[in-house]
Amino acid sequence: MHSARGSSFTDFQLVVGLEVHIQLNCKGKLFSSDKNIFGCEPNTNVSALNIAHPGTLPIVNQKAIDSIVLLGIACKSEINKLCFFDRKSYFYPDSPKGFQITQDNEPFCKGGILNIKVSKNKRDVKLTKMHLEEDAGKSIHDKSSKDTYVDLNRAGTPLIELVTEPEIHSSEEAKAFVQELRRLVQFINISDGNMEEGSMRCDANVSVRRKGSTELGIKVEIKNLNSTRNLQRAIDGEFKRQVEEVLKGNEIISETRDYRADSNTSVSLRTKETLDEYRYFPDPDLPFIQLTEADIKVLKEKLILLPWELETKLLNKFSLSKESVQFLSQDIEIAQFFLKACEMSCNYQKMANWLMGAIQKWLNKEGTSLLSSNLTPKKLAFVVDAIEDKKVSYTTAANELLPKLMTDNQFDITQAFASDNEEDKFDFNRIKKDIHIIFEQYSDKVLQYKKGKKGLLGFFMGQIMKMSGKGKDPKEINILLEEELKNL
Ligand code: ADP
Ligand code: MG
Repeated sequence: MHSARGSSFTDFQLVVGLEVHIQLNCKGKLFSSDKNIFGCEPNTNVSALNIAHPGTLPIVNQKAIDSIVLLGIACKSEINKLCFFDRKSYFYPDSPKGFQITQDNEPFCKGGILNIKVSKNKRDVKLTKMHLEEDAGKSIHDKSSKDTYVDLNRAGTPLIELVTEPEIHSSEEAKAFVQELRRLVQFINISDGNMEEGSMRCDANVSVRRKGSTELGIKVEIKNLNSTRNLQRAIDGEFKRQVEEVLKGNEIISETRDYRADSNTSVSLRTKETLDEYRYFPDPDLPFIQLTEADIKVLKEKLILLPWELETKLLNKFSLSKESVQFLSQDIEIAQFFLKACEMSCNYQKMANWLMGAIQKWLNKEGTSLLSSNLTPKKLAFVVDAIEDKKVSYTTAANELLPKLMTDNQFDITQAFASDNEEDKFDFNRIKKDIHIIFEQYSDKVLQYKKGKKGLLGFFMGQIMKMSGKGKDPKEINILLEEELKNL
């Protein structure tokens, strides 16, 4: 689109700041010991505190504090040594106290960075702050009766709110940021990071400005983004909408918009003409929280493996390919599985290939995951070593052993190659020796083969089958023969 002044989309820069809510995986709630679990019967995890019964007092959950400090250390934030909680006043049916306990002035973490990668470019996105707050309950609107029900199970759930500086400049960067944050919270085990189930919720603040300008434009906040795909689509749509408004000569209105995934559009929820009046003040029922250097040191020691440190380790210590590093460092559980296996076998790249290839294929086909299968790091190490030592061919291992390894927890792989019955066993070493005897016997043919007469493969195959193929699978022998010919 072009305006009368000749401007177009390419003249504008997108500016995004994200606000991400991370639901912590603590057993209890932020200020009570009620269960913090998803999917229970309504109002079953609700104590007197959650219904704001007079006389009840909050007690802060230490695990929640540890979680935010861990995240802060991982993101190189400044950890605030003296913080407190504030009351944020607003009335809503699913918040019976009439206020939310959150942090305004003195959050646990200030500043910090998260390094993101978009295609080949890496950059740090600056964080503004991270604070702890409690979640509200849920209002459920019954369409048929037009009644509204309140479920307070979620009320009091511990959340970290993380706020970034407005310096994300493409929807790909926003997506990369959220993905990296999700990976991090999973690695340090403070949240499951599942966006679809609402354990990670993200609002995008979007504005546009003319390229070269350093002033920020008026921002629009977009809510209800429950996947990285929707986050990306919503940002792209909002950029287009705002640029079109500006090109038409209209002002951008400061507002909150609701993203509708089914139509990939957003609608205005409310405009922000006046400042919200939250009347923040320190919660008088909660003490100040003091953190010492020693507290921080103890937590720092818990951060044994951050995702980017794992990447470096996989690259440098295990010399894995970039592709393997990318695959193994996506998931803490796969990474730990792999590292365990590396204590038992030195065939690092081969094991990574197995995890990425045959095993992943099997898991996809069965619709299951590594951790719920019966494969163990030991079994992986053993089978890969067996292939390398030519005790079994890759094909047999992948086709016949793998399904057993994945499903049968009684299956003892160490016994699989130790059969007493010679006929059961595919005796690689003996057949390999026989192959070389035949090579010597027909050295002229070997020479011709090496010069390009590949048709001789059938001749060699016939000889070896005659010599040692009785009762053996020709496919296996063929694989072995081709391998030996390649190594000539
Ligand atoms: P509010 O007072 O509306 O909560 P804040 O200044 O606290 O706004 O910022 C909230 C979020 O909005 C932050 O992530 C910040 O980076 C982002 N933000 C602020 N101004 C802009 C802007 N002009 N364009 C895009 N994002 C912005
Ligand atoms: Mg704000």
